[in-house]
Amino acid sequence: MEISLPTTVQFEVYIDPDRCGNSCVCIDLCSMGVFEKKDGSVYPWNSHLCCSCFKCNEFCPHHAISTRWILRA
Ligand code: SF4
Ligand code: SF4
Repeated sequence: MEISLPTTVQFEVYIDPDRCGNSCVCIDLCSMGVFEKKDGSVYPWNSHLCCSCFKCNEFCPHHAISTRWILRA
């Protein structure tokens, strides 16, 4: 009998470093604590906690945030 791994769906958050102005708006907006500022740059360190509310995507003043579904089979 062949056992296959379960398919999982994850949400990935990405910040374009060329667009990001380090405003920290996303840190204040995200209720899941996805974003943190380290060494002077904001990064989505906790992307796996994202609940896909799209607030960051909508309100980033530099339109630097992309969000996407990833299907792992
Ligand atoms: S809100 Fe946008 S510009 Fe501001 S730190 Fe986050 S990604 Fe960068
Ligand atoms: S989509 Fe919502 S939960 Fe996900 S990173 Fe953006 S603000 Fe946070």
